[in-house]
Amino acid sequence: MAHPGVGNPQTKEIADGVFAVNRLVHFFADIGVNAGIIQTKESIIFIDSGMSAFSGEFLWNFAGDKMRGTEDLFLILTHKDTDHCFGMNEIKKHGATVIAHEHTANILHAERDLSKNDIAIRVKEKYDPIDVLGDAILTRPERTLTEDTTLNLGDELQILSIPGHTPGDIAVYHPRSKVLFAGDAILEGMDPYIRLDSVSVTTWIKNLERLKELDIEWVLPGHGSISRPDIIDGNIQYLIRNQG
Ligand SMILES: [Zn+2]
Repeated sequence: MAHPGVGNPQTKEIADGVFAVNRLVHFFADIGVNAGIIQTKESIIFIDSGMSAFSGEFLWNFAGDKMRGTEDLFLILTHKDTDHCFGMNEIKKHGATVIAHEHTANILHAERDLSKNDIAIRVKEKYDPIDVLGDAILTRPERTLTEDTTLNLGDELQILSIPGHTPGDIAVYHPRSKVLFAGDAILEGMDPYIRLDSVSVTTWIKNLERLKELDIEWVLPGHGSISRPDIIDGNIQYLIRNQG
């Protein structure tokens, strides 16, 4: 039976050593939440960590089956929302270096207790929080960035600073596979989520336009199905219609 803190995620190898994990449990949205994993000769890179410690553990176990055990480990958080960060400690505790935008790092540090309490209160109507969240510990990522950064972790990874849905949004582009891990800057099956703490829609659009310059084969959005790159334009069109 599916664990209520994991849901029924679907895993898919999009390209050699590049995995999408779709529909990890989301306590408030049926569409679930996504994460990615990239395996290189030197490293295992997790992109986002799900909405519970159990989801983080699921990602760790899924990648563990493919590991040699000598790889460097990294977790890149696309933004600060709890549905992408609550599993972080389950990956970090195995020695992963956590990478995020400086804004994300500051929020995770400042709201490390607040967020958990807030979500615990909200899930209480349906579940016992301990049963579904597990030990969801938020900590400040050790490595932060404020602008586009290229990393070589066995494969090249381009980390793009694209404030939009939150001021700390980043996307991860993996040139070898031409896969873009977009976080909630791009959504499929639901409209882009403009919130009080989103940056101006004009800036968001400008940043999505930048992504169109990349040679992309597949996009893994923060929520929804793996998509072709025309999803970027679909999201831009929605933002244009809903500008200010
Ligand atoms: Zn999300």
